[in-house]
Amino acid sequence: MPKCIFCMIANKEIPSDIVYEDDQILAFRDLEPQAPVHVLIVPKKHIASLDNMTQEDQALLGYLMYKVPDIAKELELVNGYRLVNNCGEDGMQTVHHLHFHLLGKRKMTWPPG
Ligand code: AMP
Repeated sequence: MPKCIFCMIANKEIPSDIVYEDDQILAFRDLEPQAPVHVLIVPKKHIASLDNMTQEDQALLGYLMYKVPDIAKELELVNGYRLVNNCGEDGMQTVHHLHFHLLGKRKMTWPPG
């Protein structure tokens, strides 16, 4: 089975442009940015998607959410930002390691595509 690419990034087996890291989470720049700032925030623990989280992941994901404003502040997203999770096939999830897209420095549109 091929190794999870975001686990490889978290383990520093492949390079990435890391903007924030601690013992539980990692934030790094998306390879194909959809906004002037486009960062992926991931738990270091492999969780395939939101649908695959368990009760024991509650604290970890609560912590991840708690850190979002700090990361946004660090990236100077003073005018706001968008946080996106694509889950499953209809959600167009392509990497099966839970991640949240943090997008900013441009005005977003709604509805999303
Ligand atoms: P999603 O479609 O929500 O699963 O998002 C996956 C995201 O991962 C896409 O925006 C990709 O551009 C991004 N991505 C894939 N591989 C890498 C990588 N090695 N480093 C940074 N971003 C990546």
